[in-house]
Amino acid sequence: MVEIRKIGVVGAGQMGAGIAHVSALAGYEVTIFDVSHERAQKGVETIAANLDRQLAGGKIAEADKEAALSRIIAADGAGALGDADLVIEAANEDEAIKRRIFAQICAVLRPDALLATNTSSISITRLAASTDRPERFLGIHFMNPVPVMKLVELVRGIATSDETYEAARAYVERLGKAMTVSEDFPAFIVNRILMPMINEAIYTLYEGVGSVDNIDTAMKLGANHPMGPLQLADFIGLDTCLSIMQVLHDGLSDSKYRPCPLLVKYVEAGWLGRKAGRGFYDYRGETPVPTR
Ligand code: NAD
Repeated sequence: MVEIRKIGVVGAGQMGAGIAHVSALAGYEVTIFDVSHERAQKGVETIAANLDRQLAGGKIAEADKEAALSRIIAADGAGALGDADLVIEAANEDEAIKRRIFAQICAVLRPDALLATNTSSISITRLAASTDRPERFLGIHFMNPVPVMKLVELVRGIATSDETYEAARAYVERLGKAMTVSEDFPAFIVNRILMPMINEAIYTLYEGVGSVDNIDTAMKLGANHPMGPLQLADFIGLDTCLSIMQVLHDGLSDSKYRPCPLLVKYVEAGWLGRKAGRGFYDYRGETPVPTR
């Protein structure tokens, strides 16, 4: 079994930064790669700010923060992933982008290195087949925000070897996360259930059944959800929500997964939620204001 010491993370966005954060805190050396060094460096800055928050909340000590930061490097190019034992891809939820990344990085990875994807919905078997190492490929699906959420879903493709699966289990255990295992079907377990609920909340808004505020309050106080579904959609990213609905719709060929046209409109407007400053809420002022 490959002993995992060095982790490569592709994508320094919300999820990539979170994966690098928890991996470095758990003692792994981490190289974070994005489309440019600046972008990767921005991810490291986000991690530093999130570590500060954990420090202020008494969750970690100053020494833990310093040690974690000292273990993270922002990559200058894909070549920096060459000595990684495990690379976790966390770029946009877009199969074409992910395939291009795998082609680029397989050329520099060690032959025995493991490759994982944090995809929320795309077939692990199909992604694996586009690489030179389907038996050393699997889904390691973290939840957002990674430092806070306890769960990781592990997803084996048809070719994933037992050794790869066991190495991934050991990695997730060392992070102190809980694990569930899902079969490789569209959107796995969490998003197969969660995303149609969010899509239905958007239909509820689209059809005028309720306002943003009424829908979120109804589900927070009426179903005891910690966050309303529209607030959660903004938090996840509306582009990611739409991609997951498209994977469910295409993969299961059932009209019940039809993405809401209002979700499509928000994505087309570039109103992608929190990360873009605007989605079902406008985050540009002091407090979020509903946009409908
Ligand atoms: P994001 O938009 O915050 O970040 C994506 C990052 O990928 C960006 O920094 C972008 O520059 C980078 N990227 C794009 N093309 C690249 C390339 N060719 N090479 C290197 N980097 C590239 O997205 P996110 O919310 O972090 O989601 C990333 C992945 O994690 C998606 O597959 C998503 O489905 C999955 N995921 C998201 C959530 C969530 O709640 N947002 C939860 C679990 C899993």
